[in-house]
Amino acid sequence: MKKLIQGILEFRHNCKDEYCSRFGGLAEKHDPDALFVACCDSRVVPNVFASTDPGDLFVLRNIGNSIPPYQIFGASDASVTAAIEFALLELKVKDIIVCGHSDCGAMRAVLEQKKLHPGVAAWLSCAKPSYERFLEDCGDFAPDITPLNRLSQIYVMQQLEHLQTYPMVSEYLQQGVLALHGWWFDLATADVFQYSEKEQKFVLIEA
Ligand SMILES: [Zn+2]
Repeated sequence: MKKLIQGILEFRHNCKDEYCSRFGGLAEKHDPDALFVACCDSRVVPNVFASTDPGDLFVLRNIGNSIPPYQIFGASDASVTAAIEFALLELKVKDIIVCGHSDCGAMRAVLEQKKLHPGVAAWLSCAKPSYERFLEDCGDFAPDITPLNRLSQIYVMQQLEHLQTYPMVSEYLQQGVLALHGWWFDLATADVFQYSEKEQKFVLIEA
C-alpha cells in the first residue's frame, strides 16, 4: 500500500495539472473507441502498450481475459454481460478487443491441470474447449512459441467465438457495425500481435 500511496502523491505533484484539462473534459461523458477485454495480470497494462489516453478504452478485466459463453438462463457471467451491453448500447463502441498475454498464470493453471480453488476452477471451466483444442492441435498452430503461449493464443480465439454467442454481438456483427479483434501481448518484448483470419495466426501489429 505504501507504494500506491506514494504513487498518488507523486501523480498529484508531477502530473495532475497536465491531466486536469483532459479529465475535466471527460468528467461528464466519455466516448471510448473500443471495449477492451484483458487479463487481471498486473503486468498487462493496456493503456501503456496501446498508448491510449484516459477516455479511449472501456476496459473489462478478469482472470484470463475470459468471455463465458452467453446463456439466457444459468451461468453466463453478469459482469461480462453487463459490460458488453453497456459498451454496445450506451457507449456505442464499434470494436471489441480480447487481449491475451504471454506467460499467463490462468493459462498455466489450465495447461498444468492444477487443482484450483472453487471460484477460480468454476471461472476457468470455460477454458476446457481451448485445452482440448490445444491437445488435438499437437503444436501445429503457432509451433514457434511455447505450449503455454500457444494455449493462451488459442484461448483468445475461443473468446472471440464466445462473444458471438451473445445475441447483441451477433446482431451487430451481421449489421456490419461491430468488429471483433483478438490481440496478444508478449510481456518479454512488449510486442502486440493481432489474430489474422487470413493467415490463421497471430501477426505482429506494425505499420
Ligand atoms: Zn493472465
